[in-house]
Amino acid sequence: MAAIAVQAPPGLRVPPRPRYTDSFRYGLDLGEKSLASDRRVHVTLECSDCKRRNYITEKNRQNNRDRIELKKYCRWCRGHTSHKETR
Ligand SMILES: [Zn+2]
Repeated sequence: MAAIAVQAPPGLRVPPRPRYTDSFRYGLDLGEKSLASDRRVHVTLECSDCKRRNYITEKNRQNNRDRIELKKYCRWCRGHTSHKETR
C-alpha cells in the first residue's frame, strides 16, 4: 500500500508540529507514569565499609547524573556510614 503524500494547498500556512523535546519536557502527550519512569531510576545503596547492599531507593537522573552517596545507618557496621550507589 503506497503512502499518499498530503500536500497543503499553496498559501495555507501549516502550523509547525511541536518538537518531541517540548512535548517531553512539558508532558503534553505523555502520561505522568511514562514521564516519571524516564527520569526516576532505581539505585542500590551499598555500604562503603562492609560492601553490603542495605538500601534500595530511587533518584532523579536529571538532578543526579553522577553516582549518589548518602550517609545511612548500616546495621552490620552498627553506625552511620557512607552508602554509595551501585548498579
Ligand atoms: Zn556496613
